[in-house]
Amino acid sequence: MPPTHRVLFFDTTLRDGEQSPGCTMHHAEKLRMAHQLAALGVDILEAGFAIASHGDFASVHAIATEVGRAKGAPRITSLARAKREDIEAAAKAIEPAEKQRIHTFLSTSDLHLAAKLKITREQALDQIAAMVALAKTYCDDVEFSPEDATRTDPEFLVKVCEVAIQAGATTLNLPDTVGYCLPQDYAAMFTMVLERVPGAKDIVLSAHCHDDLGLAVANSIAAIQAGVRQVECSINGIGERAGNAALEELAALLLVRKDKLPYTNDIVMTKIFETSQMLTSCISFGPAPNKAIVGANAFAHAAGIHQHGVLANPLTYEIMTPESVGYKGQSLVMGKHSGRRALEHRLKELGHDLSKEELGVVYERFIDLCDRKKLIYDQDILALLATREASVA
Ligand code: MN
Repeated sequence: MPPTHRVLFFDTTLRDGEQSPGCTMHHAEKLRMAHQLAALGVDILEAGFAIASHGDFASVHAIATEVGRAKGAPRITSLARAKREDIEAAAKAIEPAEKQRIHTFLSTSDLHLAAKLKITREQALDQIAAMVALAKTYCDDVEFSPEDATRTDPEFLVKVCEVAIQAGATTLNLPDTVGYCLPQDYAAMFTMVLERVPGAKDIVLSAHCHDDLGLAVANSIAAIQAGVRQVECSINGIGERAGNAALEELAALLLVRKDKLPYTNDIVMTKIFETSQMLTSCISFGPAPNKAIVGANAFAHAAGIHQHGVLANPLTYEIMTPESVGYKGQSLVMGKHSGRRALEHRLKELGHDLSKEELGVVYERFIDLCDRKKLIYDQDILALLATREASVA
């Protein structure tokens, strides 16, 4: 296991995220997000896939220039297939950045080798050795990913990792490309690599998980516990199909459960919510309302019993404060499950201190309104007050 307990956050919002349906971003939006991700404190920023198009190349190059040269900037990387032209394009695109990385990949499962690449295992090993070595001539920092690692024959995976490290890879990322793995099996794969691959303890191992079965974050945490020191993730968990591990969930887990997860990182938690909101404004959808950490209801309490508890002491129903992630939404949702205490609290926030009798009348009207209307806004509550004097008098 590496001696450090520091976990590196590798953000792929602008690559794996951006390439998924509905997440396409324009040049200016990518730059805006890249500045925000740098401020959020990500360690490595995957800015795009330079060879994919002229537009992608231009965005990666602009991010390397405008974000990658600032003081304390993240390391800027571009994805590249294990092909000469891809690696050359990536190297050229990230060249302006202070800290650079080339991230190259090749599928290694028998299924992918036969159906997609139509090459043998031996040819794959030769290609990995040659292309990692080529990347190394441009950049000291080279990441290699055996795509579909979790469905690759373990014996062959050991060989692949050995070849990549010998050719100069400084980070080895073993992706659960199809989101198929269970946490204990994902952890066991890294344990095996650390035990069997010469030099594996001297490089950084990385997790890249997809959420097809809802396990991306759980798998990433299991990997960290097995010795992985880089997690690849994205804001709001965007990415291919069901998406990648959500950055905000990983960062919150490492914060809230540091009793069990004693690892450090550089994510600025109070910038989480605004980063999520910015991404939503750049793409065509936001997180589900019940999405952990950044969903509209992530800190909302609707049941009267919960609202009463939170007003007395937030710790009764909150494991972290909304402020700790920069959450700006309303935490007590007014509706038919709200009790008298919550209504009184909201009225006070709106500047109305009611007597017990007045509150009683307004509460009756409030409950009546809730039967007719699903969402109760502040203006609805204020409208109830307008008839208060007449009724009490
Ligand atoms: Mn992916």
